[in-house]
Amino acid sequence: MKLTDRQQEILALVKEQEPMTGDDIANKLSLSRATIRPDLTILTMLGFLGARPKVGYYYEGDTSDFKYMSQVQNVRVRDYMSMPVVLEEDSSIYDGVVTIFLENIGTIFVTSNGDLVGCVSRKDLLRATIGKLALEVTPLSLIMTRMPNIICISPDDTIYEAAKKINAHHVDALPVIEKQGDKNKVIGRITKTNITRVFVELGGLYE
Ligand code: ADP
Repeated sequence: MKLTDRQQEILALVKEQEPMTGDDIANKLSLSRATIRPDLTILTMLGFLGARPKVGYYYEGDTSDFKYMSQVQNVRVRDYMSMPVVLEEDSSIYDGVVTIFLENIGTIFVTSNGDLVGCVSRKDLLRATIGKLALEVTPLSLIMTRMPNIICISPDDTIYEAAKKINAHHVDALPVIEKQGDKNKVIGRITKTNITRVFVELGGLYE
């Protein structure tokens, strides 16, 4: 595998000026953060760059297969998460079902004034629809899995940690949360689909 000109440029820049945040690098190259994101991911996964939350990227130097594998653990949730789909706890089960179809997702995160209080999955909703509940007037809060039992992940955690949690707890999705005062604000979601994407990108590096 050969690095592109831009990836080599990034490497030279970080080697000289480490640590650098993604924004610093983008600014120096007069590119947007979104444009260089795939390059940073590849350089991190290959072990050329290291990444520390709140510090930035630093030069790691030469690489080997072993190092490449260990860099799998350097891919951050923040860079691969999807937009969360969130409903307030007094939304109806009917709204939940409609949302699952409209947004083409499997898990809805439930909030109370912006604070994560629970989640409902496809099967939670399916179960409710075969019961005797009045779907349009029964709130999601009645059927949701509640905090503190929600398995969450932070944007600075690694995708590897997210995958381990998804496996260990047999769930399809994790809310990505950020503390805001005493509230847990949902800023993203990580699902098995996101994990698969990383896996495929990683495999593609050796094709
Ligand atoms: P499904 O129920 O459609 O198969 P999941 O396997 O994700 O989807 O959900 C299984 C159960 O775990 C559901 O009752 C759901 O409310 C709950 N659940 C889903 N995601 C989480 C999570 N991140 N933390 C805790 N519980 C969850």
